[in-house]
Amino acid sequence: MLMMTSNDESATTARKRSERTCAGCGKHAAADELVRIVLDPSSGEVAVDLAASGFGRGAHLHPTLDCVAKAIKGGLARVFKTKVVADAKAIGDDIVVAADRRIEGLLTGARRAGQVAVGSDLVVEALKEGRAELVVVARDAAAATRLPEIERAIASGKALALANKESLATLMARPGGPGSGAEVAVLAVLHPGVAGAIAQTYRMSGPFRGAVGSAAPVSVSETSGEPLGVRSEEAWSSSEVR
Ligand SMILES: [Zn+2]
Repeated sequence: MLMMTSNDESATTARKRSERTCAGCGKHAAADELVRIVLDPSSGEVAVDLAASGFGRGAHLHPTLDCVAKAIKGGLARVFKTKVVADAKAIGDDIVVAADRRIEGLLTGARRAGQVAVGSDLVVEALKEGRAELVVVARDAAAATRLPEIERAIASGKALALANKESLATLMARPGGPGSGAEVAVLAVLHPGVAGAIAQTYRMSGPFRGAVGSAAPVSVSETSGEPLGVRSEEAWSSSEVR
């Protein structure tokens, strides 16, 4: 006889609870496929809450130019039941900045937890051992991409081009450890959950990159609206060697 345990029930509830309606197109989607927008009631301004951690009422949007435009025309005002001050460019910029911050935080957290392999030797080793969940290659590190293991990771969509060697080094620097002047061409994230969150955050911000330059310290490829692992010419064409 089949019985539904309380665990099954709560799992079902959790799945239902994580469905949201896009304030742009009005379609339902899993919450983690949508960008959360929060309202500052005092100013009527909206802000992007990518980690979905903010307080207050939130609206949800597909991370597409189309749904952002539609939401501004009326969807956000309907969700928040008030006049909303927003424009598409600002929301797009906010999404990119929030994505860069979130990726930066995830990488720092992974480093602190010992869930990264830093430098091509350790990354290749982690790939060979099947421990690398996601490979991050600095956009100015073409040499690393010519290593066969890393080439395979790129081809299989397991890699993304991000920031540059200097800012990856800053993120990976241990407090008190060797810091200045160091460069990191490539690193691998070993934790599946963190790797998934980074890849997803990167994808979400894709449609809004290109039009905007990010002020965040880790600036993800400006040209990458592409899926993970797709080579953008600029990202991989530098001849600089680590
Ligand atoms: Zn939508």
